[in-house]
Amino acid sequence: KRRIGVMTSGGDAPGMNGAVRAVVRMAIYNNCEAFAIFEGYDGLVKGGDMIKEMKWQDVRGYLMEGGTLIGTARCKEFMQRDGRRTAAKNMILKGIDALVICGGDGSLTGADKFRAEWPSLLEELVESKELTAEQIEPFKHLNIVGLVGSIDNDLSMTDATIGCYSSLARICEAIDSVDTTATSHQRAFVVETMGRHCGWLTLMAGVATGSDFIFIPEKPAEEGWQENMLHCIRQHRAMGKRKTIVIVAEGAIDTNLNKITPNQIKDILSGAGLDTRVTTLGHVQRGGQPAAYDRMLSTLQGVEAVKAVLEATPETPSPVICINENKIVRRPLLEAVAQTLEVGKAIERKDFNTAMRLRDAEFAE
Ligand code: ADP
Repeated sequence: KRRIGVMTSGGDAPGMNGAVRAVVRMAIYNNCEAFAIFEGYDGLVKGGDMIKEMKWQDVRGYLMEGGTLIGTARCKEFMQRDGRRTAAKNMILKGIDALVICGGDGSLTGADKFRAEWPSLLEELVESKELTAEQIEPFKHLNIVGLVGSIDNDLSMTDATIGCYSSLARICEAIDSVDTTATSHQRAFVVETMGRHCGWLTLMAGVATGSDFIFIPEKPAEEGWQENMLHCIRQHRAMGKRKTIVIVAEGAIDTNLNKITPNQIKDILSGAGLDTRVTTLGHVQRGGQPAAYDRMLSTLQGVEAVKAVLEATPETPSPVICINENKIVRRPLLEAVAQTLEVGKAIERKDFNTAMRLRDAEFAE
């Protein structure tokens, strides 16, 4: 009987619970045992009660709950080899040799590193007499499968991450709310959205709310943006629009890589005679119930993750479960992470077209 562990790691995202539920139930359905690892890698390093068997009924009601019920954390110990060795020991003591991790690119990178080190970690555990050769014998290979849980939609090679559509829905609700007051008073609102490195949410929010102007890290504001923005807004006003909405991602920059802040934009709009307010959405964007899309996505991907565990061979590279053109697919985890990291490098060398392409967001043109 295979024993499969599931955990959530890094920043929380709506839909993570759906993924946990799907992994647990698909594992049980396939005659495996399922274990939840609480508080991300912290639970793996601490072991004991932090790794708990999950029965069918233990995940009842998970589908519609936001955040992650099994907890998430950032874990310094797991960044060190010693911490990963303890994690390996705890897994063997529980008889687990497959892990499904729902997290961001950091969590997934850590997981693949863990898999690569696994054989040598086990050898060390035997040498130090923490485990016996008989104990490690059945656990020669570690299977890792990644699921991407992130409101930012910041992983390349997948059209959507678990959580991003819930967050988009929340942003739309919030902007609809400021919209009514903006229209009543003919005001301008500068709305700050999450996304320190990734502007995808802001881009989609701009499209979905029909905002006047947006600022994102991958497509920085060009020289003269102040005038362009005002020109655009004046045109909209001339056509009878009574409100102005400008959305700024946390990581918004100009082409010289200088930060653009909501207050800076507010001053420009106020200077042009608009009564302007700033609204920072903050953690509201992460919270609440998952949107229908994320319940679907997390369930389908959780099911696929267990299939990937059961079909894995020592030679298969660790997969990450993606969605491309509405099909659930497996992609090489390390390649997806590497492509994601390329976005940041492209921005640093001011190659913004490449940044947008690597983000799979050429449609923004
Ligand atoms: P995210 O998964 O959302 O990108 P982080 O980058 O904070 O979030 O990663 C979450 C956790 O994953 C870290 O606290 C750490 O325990 C583990 N982790 C991240 N990167 C690595 C790495 N390179 N090696 C080992 N563990 C890592």
